[in-house]
Amino acid sequence: MPNKKVEIDAPDWCKGCGICIYRCPVDVLELKEGKIAITKPDNCIGCEMCELICPDFVLKVVEK
Ligand code: SF4
Ligand code: SF4
Repeated sequence: MPNKKVEIDAPDWCKGCGICIYRCPVDVLELKEGKIAITKPDNCIGCEMCELICPDFVLKVVEK
């Protein structure tokens, strides 16, 4: 898990619902102009919660 990080795989699909922000345990994500942004990447623990919870397949957790 520590060797993983979040990436924005499909930014155009983000509808700005904010569910991933609510679910992230360590405050990595924010909305910028209605789209998801990775504002604190160093906080990411690679837990994959955001990827699992996003209904629009925007986020992907990958190997570092
Ligand atoms: S992988 Fe986990 S820690 Fe990283 S942004 Fe997603 S929910 Fe937050
Ligand atoms: S859950 Fe998905 S669609 Fe909703 S804000 Fe996050 S990345 Fe965008």
